[in-house]
Amino acid sequence: MTDDSKESNGQRGGAIDLQELDRMRPPQEARAIVLGQVRLLDTETVPLAEASWQVLAADLTAPEDHPPFPAATMDGFAVVAEDGSPWREIIGEQMAGAVTDAEVTDGTAVRIMTGAAIPRGANAVVKVEATELSDDHVIIHQEDVAAGENIRPVGSDVRKGDLILPAGTVLGPAEIGLVAGMGVNPVTVRRKPRVSVISTGDELVEPGQPLAPGQIRDSNRFSIVTALRTEPVEITFVGKAPDKRDALEALLTERRASDDVIITTGGVSMGELDLVKAILFDAPDVHVHFRRLYMKPGKPLNFATAGDTLIFGLPGNPVSSLVGLELFIRPALRAMSGQPVVDRPTVPVTLATGTDGSDRIEYQRAIVTVDAEGCLHATPNGSQQSSRLQSFVGANALLVIPPRERPYDSGERLQAVLLAPPHAANRSISTELA
Ligand code: AMP
Ligand code: MG
Repeated sequence: MTDDSKESNGQRGGAIDLQELDRMRPPQEARAIVLGQVRLLDTETVPLAEASWQVLAADLTAPEDHPPFPAATMDGFAVVAEDGSPWREIIGEQMAGAVTDAEVTDGTAVRIMTGAAIPRGANAVVKVEATELSDDHVIIHQEDVAAGENIRPVGSDVRKGDLILPAGTVLGPAEIGLVAGMGVNPVTVRRKPRVSVISTGDELVEPGQPLAPGQIRDSNRFSIVTALRTEPVEITFVGKAPDKRDALEALLTERRASDDVIITTGGVSMGELDLVKAILFDAPDVHVHFRRLYMKPGKPLNFATAGDTLIFGLPGNPVSSLVGLELFIRPALRAMSGQPVVDRPTVPVTLATGTDGSDRIEYQRAIVTVDAEGCLHATPNGSQQSSRLQSFVGANALLVIPPRERPYDSGERLQAVLLAPPHAANRSISTELA
């Protein structure tokens, strides 16, 4: 969290250390630079019904006990546990949500439903399976009834005053259920980051439109937006920007005014029309932090800030842009909303087939399986060109390959960033269930 200005950075003032700016940074160093620029988003109070998957902004302490009354956990009869009578007179009925006046004493019982409050005098529930009805009496077939049996005491799930969810918790099904159960509505969450996605390149055509010679379809837009949808973000797809300096410059300036994060793809390599790189570098109020990474794919990734806005100039190749998003943008978005864990888990794996190394740290798209002993095995998912999206299809991991001339052999131990849970090694189990 810094307050950089162009002057102090000197990118325009003539004292630009280009060598340092273009130093190929190891991904870990780049990640730390990105996270160092993240500012926590403001909070907002929203109706609980709109808070799914949003991030809690403050610790949530239980305002009340749960359950708020001793409750039956079984359908049956509320009795006095110590009462030895072989049969009891049924003196009332206790449904969930209602309260009977009847008071249970020796020789009596109240019929009770799961979730209903235990009536006065009773201290146990005999489940219905252990009883038999006879006119207005119930016969208890259970020998010993323990005090407290089949009763959920006050505060046994949540005790008043306990910290139930710390700030930074993502409100998934269980979490939001807890918030609702505590009666907290509305709830205070971090504002969703506003993220815009811009594809750049004169060659790009909308899917569904015919291709002229030299054109390709804009696939990055769909991949990037879909990858972002699993985070609580507000996404604007701004469109395709041509390789025209004025138009692109105007677009970036416009988006900076409203967005927390701007993601562009394309235009960051070494070509003359790599305008994103040039525009970011030349803009007086934009600070470029790095633009080359010691990694493959995704070497020419530009990261800049303009005020509080983070700008990621991802490379145009579809695989490179997705890898860059996973390693740098997803953690930044999570950090902005105050989540304590921002990275995907990295786990040790055994290489299942040999694969080539590279001169940079390589993130190979791979399939990780877990065997019966719980060991993880990684298989690179086919050819790893940065244009080949197929390498991501079905992959659940980025296999981290340290630079090495000699190829990696099957059986070698490596690390993998898990994008999804490992697959079962024995697929037939899931097939049987299906
Ligand atoms: P660039 O970084 O602009 O030099 O682009 C690198 C490669 O990625 C080129 O082959 C581009 O055609 C391709 N590319 C750029 N943008 C996209 C996009 N939005 N969708 C698919 N491919 C793209
Ligand atoms: Mg381009």
